[in-house]
Amino acid sequence: MADDPFDNMLAQMDRAAEYADVDEGVFERLKHPERTLKVTLPVELESGEVEVFEGYRCQYDGARGPFKGGVRYHPTVTQEEVEALAGWMTWKAALVDLPYGGAKGGVICEPKDLTERDLERLTRRYTEGIRRMIGPEIDVPAPDMNTNPQTMAWMMDTYSMYEGYSVPQVVTGKPLEIGGTPGRVEATGRGVSIVTERLFEYLDRELTDATVAIQGFGNVGSNAAQLLDEMGATVVATSDVTGAAYDPDGLDVAALADHVGAGGLIEEYTAGDTRSEPERSPEDDAELVTNETLLTLDVDVLVPAAIEGVITADNVDDLRAGAIVEAANGPTTVAADEVLSGRDVPVVPDILANAGGVIVSYLEWVQNAQEFSWPLETVNAELERRIGSAFDDTIERYDVGDVPDLRTAAYTLALERTASAHEYRGLFP
Ligand code: GLU
Repeated sequence: MADDPFDNMLAQMDRAAEYADVDEGVFERLKHPERTLKVTLPVELESGEVEVFEGYRCQYDGARGPFKGGVRYHPTVTQEEVEALAGWMTWKAALVDLPYGGAKGGVICEPKDLTERDLERLTRRYTEGIRRMIGPEIDVPAPDMNTNPQTMAWMMDTYSMYEGYSVPQVVTGKPLEIGGTPGRVEATGRGVSIVTERLFEYLDRELTDATVAIQGFGNVGSNAAQLLDEMGATVVATSDVTGAAYDPDGLDVAALADHVGAGGLIEEYTAGDTRSEPERSPEDDAELVTNETLLTLDVDVLVPAAIEGVITADNVDDLRAGAIVEAANGPTTVAADEVLSGRDVPVVPDILANAGGVIVSYLEWVQNAQEFSWPLETVNAELERRIGSAFDDTIERYDVGDVPDLRTAAYTLALERTASAHEYRGLFP
């Protein structure tokens, strides 16, 4: 079951409910998003044509504080997906103990087919569409798939124009010049590398002996790859939509990052393709394999860093990775999870593994509130402290011995913390 991301999230909650000390009425409440706004977005494209887009903003649960979560631009966005992602944000913020509820936004579009001006107009129109439900103390958007600091700058500007003054605190993940924080762009990848290091410490194994395959080389995947490479792990494969570059001796991650950073595709980087010979590192002799093959490589760590629902009942039996660190949101279906749990493959769940992004978003929001800015070292140290302590909490809960896996341990904590906020606040009216 559960290929629909929302059903998958509910099934994850159900699995943890068995072990969590949560009142039944509150648990029922947590299975439903607080509200979802759907907006119609007519935009005049640079081509002169008017295209009507559809967007959403879901505020899942606000018991622990203002709503928080990214905005995604992707052709496969659906209301159910945005609601699942908003639910995952709720559990993530609770697990890493941020004073936030969970939210998510999405616009159905193919950013590759839009010009920079089209994207600006679409972003401004979307911001206008949701502006009555966002605000520094209400709901604070951030980047997610295919959105970035520039997108956040347009959102901040549009919101500020309506308010009549600059409101940097309404979004996080902004450029530094308008209230962004150092370290936000790399934060999710950095968090992934920190929890991978902690997992190896826990397993009493050396990360310097480990091979890693990373599905996805976007902001999260590429930063995680570079940081894991710096920590001494061997990154043997990574991918984009055109396929995966695989070199059992290890990829030249820095050369690959330069190639992709300059707009290059993974397939162009691999051996046999002459299109990008000058950019390819002479030592790198990567072969081109499929994304599906990447998932089944015999590696110590598999890092899905692309989209949800890639590890499923259909391919889980072929997976050979020794551990999985979920950089993407919702990459593993519940059916696959049960198999991995039965095989004792450690899976660091998304709500822990990719929480570095929202942690540093929180640090940005706090700096904006203080009208003060912190140096990169302070931000990174605070990120490490917060994600490290959430990792320790999860392990401690797992080591009690009653829950079957790390995801259930993490969900048990997140559900209990959110439920406890509901219980203290009580039911209105
Ligand atoms: N989109 C990111 C996530 O899924 C970050 C959200 C945020 O910074 O608010 O966690």
